[in-house]
Amino acid sequence: MNEPSQKSLERMQTYVRKYCEKTGTATHPNKEVTESVVKGLASHLDVLGKPLCPCNFYPDKKVEITSRRWFCACDEMKRWKYCHCLLFVREDGLPVTEYLPADHEGRQIYGEVKDPTPDKGRESRALPPSPPPKGETL
Ligand code: SF4
Repeated sequence: MNEPSQKSLERMQTYVRKYCEKTGTATHPNKEVTESVVKGLASHLDVLGKPLCPCNFYPDKKVEITSRRWFCACDEMKRWKYCHCLLFVREDGLPVTEYLPADHEGRQIYGEVKDPTPDKGRESRALPPSPPPKGETL
């Protein structure tokens, strides 16, 4: 992936900081995780004009951006407060999984991880479930 522009990098850094405040989440304690995801988002912003999640494989990114579901913050984050990139996590670095369906891969990987700030985030909690992703999760 190309190095992102400073402008997009700063835009995404600001977005991440504000979204953490809004949802009661934290960035990962390992700064390299956060930097890598933010860089990926900023690169997509440069190339595609959209902050497409950098942690999925997309057969065709141009087709993928006809839907908003993997624009950060993605449908899974807004509905279940789950970030598979580990960009928005608890202070201990674990992603919240308690709202995920039992058969979701996040529950299989991490078990049930409670949300320490249940009064924040999940702005789409009332929406019906999203269709399965077009791409595969890395
Ligand atoms: S999984 Fe969702 S919330 Fe996390 S970085 Fe990707 S798009 Fe953003």
